[in-house]
Amino acid sequence: MAGVESPTATFPSLETALKHHFGYDQFRPGQRPVIEAVLKNQDALVIMPTGGGKSLCYQLPALLKLGVMVVVSPLIALMQDQVDSLTDNGVAATCLNSSLDYNTIRQREAELLAGHIKLLYVSPERLMSAGFFGLLERLIQTVGVSGFAIDEAHCVSEWGHDFRPEYRQLSVLREKFPQIEVMGLTATATERVRQDIVQQLRLRDPLIQVSSFNRPNLFYEVRPKGRDGYGDLLRQVKQTQGSGIIYCLSRKRVDELAQRLTADGESILPYHAGLADDTRRDNQTRFIRDDVRLMVATVAFGMGINKPDVRFVIHYDIPRNIEGYYQESGRAGRDGEAAHCTLYLAYGDVATADYLIGQKPDADEQRIARQQLRQMVDYAETTVCRRRVQLSYFGELLEGLCHHCDNCTNPPPVEDWTLEAQKFLSCVARCQERFGMAHIIDVLRGSKKQKVMDLGHDQLSTHGIGKDRSVDEWRLLGRSLLHQRLVDETTDGYPVLKLNAASWQVLRKQIAVAVAVPKDFAPGPAEASTQDDTPEVAQLLTVLKALRKTLADQQSVPPYVVFPESALRQMAQTRPQTLEAFSQVSGVGSRKLAQYGEVFTDAIRQFCADYGLESDPGAAGRRDRPLRERRQTTGDTHRHTLELHRQGLSMAEIADQRGLKSSTIANHLEQLIRQGEAVEVDNLVAVDRQHTIVAVLAELENASLTDIRDRLDPTYSYEEIRLVRAAWQREQPG
Ligand code: ADP
Ligand code: ZN
Repeated sequence: MAGVESPTATFPSLETALKHHFGYDQFRPGQRPVIEAVLKNQDALVIMPTGGGKSLCYQLPALLKLGVMVVVSPLIALMQDQVDSLTDNGVAATCLNSSLDYNTIRQREAELLAGHIKLLYVSPERLMSAGFFGLLERLIQTVGVSGFAIDEAHCVSEWGHDFRPEYRQLSVLREKFPQIEVMGLTATATERVRQDIVQQLRLRDPLIQVSSFNRPNLFYEVRPKGRDGYGDLLRQVKQTQGSGIIYCLSRKRVDELAQRLTADGESILPYHAGLADDTRRDNQTRFIRDDVRLMVATVAFGMGINKPDVRFVIHYDIPRNIEGYYQESGRAGRDGEAAHCTLYLAYGDVATADYLIGQKPDADEQRIARQQLRQMVDYAETTVCRRRVQLSYFGELLEGLCHHCDNCTNPPPVEDWTLEAQKFLSCVARCQERFGMAHIIDVLRGSKKQKVMDLGHDQLSTHGIGKDRSVDEWRLLGRSLLHQRLVDETTDGYPVLKLNAASWQVLRKQIAVAVAVPKDFAPGPAEASTQDDTPEVAQLLTVLKALRKTLADQQSVPPYVVFPESALRQMAQTRPQTLEAFSQVSGVGSRKLAQYGEVFTDAIRQFCADYGLESDPGAAGRRDRPLRERRQTTGDTHRHTLELHRQGLSMAEIADQRGLKSSTIANHLEQLIRQGEAVEVDNLVAVDRQHTIVAVLAELENASLTDIRDRLDPTYSYEEIRLVRAAWQREQPG
């Protein structure tokens, strides 16, 4: 290998290499530091949420380093997907796993040894199989091995949700090949699993890159699954565009729901462990290739499904725990575009889940599972920001509100239900604290059920005093009382309501009871996507999508492999008609340009000719975009500034790179601070200058900027003051 010039030298910067190979203009948060570490042969642990862009962290170094990068990946289906995607970007990748025949394996090994391959995907079984270490030795001696990347690294840990014994043996990599860098990658959020990964993989002084688990492009919502739960679901599905996954708890429910939705004209297929292997594989492929729009599935579906353009995930039954919910709902919007996550809550489902937990043989397991379910229900019932609840579960504090969940955008009205609470609690007392909620509600509503009559509860003074409220309303109150700890419930598996000290305070009119009443769930907000486009943009987008699908089918790959959604939208908006203009689109790298530039620019030129549109909409096209769309562009421009800031660029550098005024950048950063984003104020304003500004802020409460500036010496700019003020105000209580 001596004398071979390092390929890194070919590119003036990592960004140029990124654009060349993958077509992207900038790194996502966290990618650059990891890539730099890997290029220096440092070990790394990469923790990024789904869609964060983990793969790039080893794919780009693989291309820039000498030799082969060996990627261990647990799912054969996913492996093939990734290899397809890379091949389409002109990256020499291949995989070895148990599904291949002997000849194919020999042939691929020969290609590897000839130095034709940059990325090799292997299953852990293959890695540990006889002869594989021999191959590795030979690779090291000939073309070189640039590193080991362990994808889904949480599989090494028994504390994770997906332990795989074969992963345990991966520590031999470090023993046998101590000179080769190892990186682990995972979306696992818990600290315990992270520590386990470092230990199990024997990582040596690794760079640990933990990204925020906040996925700002996802909108979270919870809806009650009332009597017309299905009707509500159907409305949601009909309102949304693009691919979606609907999760149910059991195979039976999956089949039923798939049938109903099909009968209602939806393009849908089921997925669960009860289907024959090839049916399952087939259904999955048809979903990934956009031949079918929806998948109804048990949680068996999705792990390792790398479809970036899923626009919504609906949980039609309550998930078992928050971590599971986060991971499953997180399969929406991996491409960073807006996506919607809806959870349906029905107390009947909670009871079913609880019953199933009761079937577990181990008492400890039961206790943990119950607690997790309870936390899940708390999440579903919460009236505060949902993202905040999720992130706090992972030990991350969201500053401020997210403004992108149902509770933030449409806070539930709080009503005074003190009188109802008194009726409810006195009925619990009259029934001698020996019954559960269903019975109490029967009595309140004046039921003449056999059980009520037999017990003589029709004679109680509270019998029938609650006829004016529905069963659902009484349940809502009962849950809310439990939630607020204004009544207790026994936990031995037979839930009986018991009064506590607080209950008596309510009964004695010492405390009032407020209940957050869910809105009458009108059809939810459809996610803004194509609705915001002008008719020309929407129409061209349709044309480009059809073209993408044809090209994808010709190569038997999913459409997103050809181009991501965002690239098509940008094409539809800017209508590039020359290869030069086309190469400017984010997502168009050198290979894509060569492969698809002609066909796509042809189609765009044709479209413009047919509709008599300008050859270059440029600024004019942007100027007359409707207001709502402009607003969305504003969000993007802030994010762009934030990413550059996180890469360590100064305000002037960001302004320069973006061709914007420095004051505009300051504006962005100020707003980002107010939105609770992690802006490093210390990198923007020297610490001693911050102190001076804060002293004035504290002294002159609510003063205008001019007043503040007048108190400081003239070297202080408005921008500095605004940034420091935003950060300072964020830290103030209230
Ligand atoms: P993860 O494995 O972390 O879930 P992926 O590696 O699959 O995420 O990346 C998610 C999506 O983001 C993919 O479609 C990928 O092409 C895209 N992506 C990754 N890095 C970037 C980047 N720097 N700019 C734009 N898109 C990116
Ligand atoms: Zn919120």
